[in-house]
Amino acid sequence: MGIMHTLKRLALGDDSAPTPDLGRNDECWCGSGQKYKRCHLATDARKRSSERAAARRGPARRAF
Ligand SMILES: [Zn+2]
Repeated sequence: MGIMHTLKRLALGDDSAPTPDLGRNDECWCGSGQKYKRCHLATDARKRSSERAAARRGPARRAF
């Protein structure tokens, strides 16, 4: 934990930006032509948060 945890967070980028190179007002990556914030932003955020939750739980508790 501590410094390593902080460095990992920095490497992964800001939590509020699921796709760091794509702005909220840019066209979505899926090609729908909609703005990202109107399209996949919520989906990506949910997916990322569930991935983070899974990572936090870790493999040790998968026995349950
Ligand atoms: Zn999309």
